[in-house]
Amino acid sequence: MEKILEVKNISKKYQNKEGEVIALKDVNFRVNQGEFVSIIGPSGCGKSTLLSIIAGLEEKSTGEIYIEGEKVEEISPKIGYMLQKDCLLEWKNILSNTMFGLEVKGKKNQETEAYVESLLRKYNLFDFKDKYPSELSGGMRQRVALIRTLAIKPKILLLDEAFSALDYQTRIMVTHDIYSILRKEKVTAIIVTHDISEAISMSDRVLVLSKRPGTIKDIHKIEFNMENRTPINCRENPKFSQYFNTLWKELGVDE
Ligand code: ADP
Ligand code: MG
Repeated sequence: MEKILEVKNISKKYQNKEGEVIALKDVNFRVNQGEFVSIIGPSGCGKSTLLSIIAGLEEKSTGEIYIEGEKVEEISPKIGYMLQKDCLLEWKNILSNTMFGLEVKGKKNQETEAYVESLLRKYNLFDFKDKYPSELSGGMRQRVALIRTLAIKPKILLLDEAFSALDYQTRIMVTHDIYSILRKEKVTAIIVTHDISEAISMSDRVLVLSKRPGTIKDIHKIEFNMENRTPINCRENPKFSQYFNTLWKELGVDE
């Protein structure tokens, strides 16, 4: 498989009033094209910092990030971001919301508009294009946020606790939904979550970070060998609880 992302010797020190905080130390890993990798670790261990560095939003203290072999020096146009809050604009309808990223980047034209419309149709939102965000369920809002992000055709999607504001039932459905869309669109995904089950059910590998300063403790390959692998099917597979126990123990040692 072809490598799309390389994270090389990343360290990060923050300076605050009390002095220096070392958030990350010597973080190294690679992600292949189309792969889904989750990052788990205790609160405050540097997960969000790591995603911001990958996206080129945050300065690093040491190391380099390469996307498709190119060094990331500033905000990377190859990256899409999904956060806990869907950040939809309540005064704009669904169509305008999904076009918003393109508008901001000055890339709204006939071709990109047609692409967004095709995504809306494909993922059952076209009939809602004239509605406003407040008229949609939490799950649908996340799907709109995803389409807005996919509109700019990112190579890598970073999800930072993207589902943690949703109630349990909705979260299961939304992870299923988003997982299927990303696989279909062949996007590579890096998923930060504190939810071990979410990490296992969504990914090909799980990276475990230690408590601060965050370093990679372990990388687990997740393999279910199922014909129709979906986050929901994974949860019913006997291997699921084995992975869960391993990761649970590994996280627990630190806390
Ligand atoms: P996580 O996402 O794993 O919970 P973060 O990446 O948000 O962790 O934070 C890692 C550490 O860096 C924390 O101790 C946090 O307080 C610190 N930190 C994060 N952002 C800043 C900042 N802008 N200035 C100073 N310290 C920060
Ligand atoms: Mg965080």
